[in-house]
Amino acid sequence: MNNPFENAMKQLDKAAKIKDFGDDFIAQLRAPNRDIRISIPVKMDNGSTKIFEGYRVEYNNTLGPYKGGIRYHRDTEINEIKALGFWMVLKCAVSGIPMGGGKGGIMVEPKDLSKGELERLSRGWVRGLSDILGPHKDVPAPDVNTTPEIMAWMADEFEKITGDKTRSTFTGKPIDRGGSEGRGPATGLGGFYVFDTLRDELKLPAKCKVAIQGFGNVGANAARIFSQNSHIIIAVSDSKSGIVKKDGLDLEKVEAHKKKTGGLKDFSEAEDITNEELLELPCDLLVPAAFENVITEGNARKIKAKTILELANGPITPEADEILFKKSIPVIPDILANSGGVTVSYFEWDQNLKNEHWSEKEVFDKLKSMIQDSTKKSMEKAKEANTSLRMGAFILALEKIKAKM
Ligand code: NAD
Repeated sequence: MNNPFENAMKQLDKAAKIKDFGDDFIAQLRAPNRDIRISIPVKMDNGSTKIFEGYRVEYNNTLGPYKGGIRYHRDTEINEIKALGFWMVLKCAVSGIPMGGGKGGIMVEPKDLSKGELERLSRGWVRGLSDILGPHKDVPAPDVNTTPEIMAWMADEFEKITGDKTRSTFTGKPIDRGGSEGRGPATGLGGFYVFDTLRDELKLPAKCKVAIQGFGNVGANAARIFSQNSHIIIAVSDSKSGIVKKDGLDLEKVEAHKKKTGGLKDFSEAEDITNEELLELPCDLLVPAAFENVITEGNARKIKAKTILELANGPITPEADEILFKKSIPVIPDILANSGGVTVSYFEWDQNLKNEHWSEKEVFDKLKSMIQDSTKKSMEKAKEANTSLRMGAFILALEKIKAKM
């Protein structure tokens, strides 16, 4: 079993070998400032009380308040949350936003709960952690299985407990509850801007064939945005299975099929494939947009994509990263590729604090210019040190954190 936190630390050690940051600095980044585990009692619809395990890891706040999503998943555990918190620290630094990094979660299968139970659980997470949260302390956001509605419940609970009416402690809220324009598609759109900035450099065609693993917030938005920009989506998948059509999927029909049947399987215009087969398809761009550790030592040699854009966090293990580097398959790393989400979350926090509401155009223009800047700077660092783009982005982030420390 791959431990995501050990993987994250291997990446840190590798960066520290490429550039000397000093042992004390690296040691400080090897452990979170604090990790908190809470029990959340929830009254279930049948009258019984069930206890859930919740987490918040506040990894590092050198650059600003802790920032990071909350994940609801049956397999979520503290090592995963620590890794995600560490990557958030670097992601905020790469993006040039004045925030630190953290992450939270609850070990739960949300599909097993009624809407009322889910709301009581979400409000319970806030009650258990309200002392450490706040606009200038710790600002959570959505992640896997956490929706704008859940963020609205959380913001409301926080306001009830503390009286803070700015709504700036939670981002990813619905627009009519203080959310920002453009937060929904922000991660997929940011990923597209990173890719587009690098496309010539990576010698990719104007019409790329793209395969996307994961069809949730990030994957489905990315599919739509790449397709609107003349690229061809040849395959997509969700947790159950995937579909492939070599000359391109009609995404509207795919969405309609998923809505009707609850999955992607048996879509009449495409062939069914497994998630493993999707990763090994020949294509210009492979986009893992689901979970950690999907490309490992076991399948890295079988990858036929020309380039990989990591929209999920930590989808490639360090061993697989080495194999891909040797195979000359460039990887656009998560801390750069999926930074659009946290960037627009930062815009939301900023708007809430100033009591402003920016137009979608303003949000997207600012996002584009920040992403182009961080992408070019990460590439420059990679070239200077003759290393991968992942290590270029790590060096850029570590330099900024060290300077502030
Ligand atoms: P989501 O819950 O909306 O969607 C997850 C998708 O992955 C779903 O389609 C699900 O069916 C699929 N999936 C689950 N298990 C799978 C498996 N074993 N194989 C293939 N697909 C599987 O979550 P999301 O917000 O889209 O997040 C996806 C990834 O992007 C995560 O790694 C998350 O940390 C990362 N991310 C999300 C954001 C954001 O703004 N939501 C920002 C940055 C990074």
